[in-house]
Amino acid sequence: MTSFPARWDDVSDHQVHWYDERTAIIRQALHTNFEGPFLYLLLGSERALLLDTGTGHVPLRPLIDSLLSGQELIVAHTHAHLDHVGGDEEFDHVVGRTPEEVAAYFGITSWPDGVVQFDLGGRVLDIVPIPGHHASHIAVYDAETRLLFSGDSLYPGRLYVFDWDAFRASVSRLAAFVAAGNPVEWVLGAHIELTTRPGEDYEMGADVHPDEHELQLAPAVLTELASVLGPEPARIVRDHFIVYPV
Ligand SMILES: [Zn+2]
Ligand SMILES: [Zn+2]
Repeated sequence: MTSFPARWDDVSDHQVHWYDERTAIIRQALHTNFEGPFLYLLLGSERALLLDTGTGHVPLRPLIDSLLSGQELIVAHTHAHLDHVGGDEEFDHVVGRTPEEVAAYFGITSWPDGVVQFDLGGRVLDIVPIPGHHASHIAVYDAETRLLFSGDSLYPGRLYVFDWDAFRASVSRLAAFVAAGNPVEWVLGAHIELTTRPGEDYEMGADVHPDEHELQLAPAVLTELASVLGPEPARIVRDHFIVYPV
């Protein structure tokens, strides 16, 4: 059985939701920092992957340790913006933050075109480089759950694009990866900045989110993003995301 919470309630410093028995979705509360990032803990039989460490405004390690069941913990990032690496210093095994370090750790020999597998023990993830929002950005695909972790490259909010050509190419490659026999149930990003009303975002820096959009996006939204990105940078408002060139 898989599930999402009815809402992200912002009560505890971190809200932990088990999507299934080996996949924890962790929301750092908006009251701790307006970014309210989502972190993901994926358990294998031998290793566990923590994807992102949040802003660092509240302790994270005690929580993560309490969720493990004997696995060796690997900490990696969707990308190295400060709201995703803030808790790094609490942990022992942290993958580096540059494209070179990310590629070296996962064994990606042709960045950003290569896709590699990363085995947690009975659970094999695919690592897909997707620079554009940030140079070392990756997506992580979990064939077991059919979840696609998209970081800040696709979530229900403002998709800040720092390198338009790289972003456009990355989204295209990611959509092609999905189409090539890697079916996705849900795309899970790292923030929520939209309300439940189509294309309506909160003000920047808002740390209260009434009527928040759901975290999970249908895979058709990735296809939609790929289809609306033209050759020239443009602000594009759609129901489930806003493309926001920087
Ligand atoms: Zn970012
Ligand atoms: Zn972010």
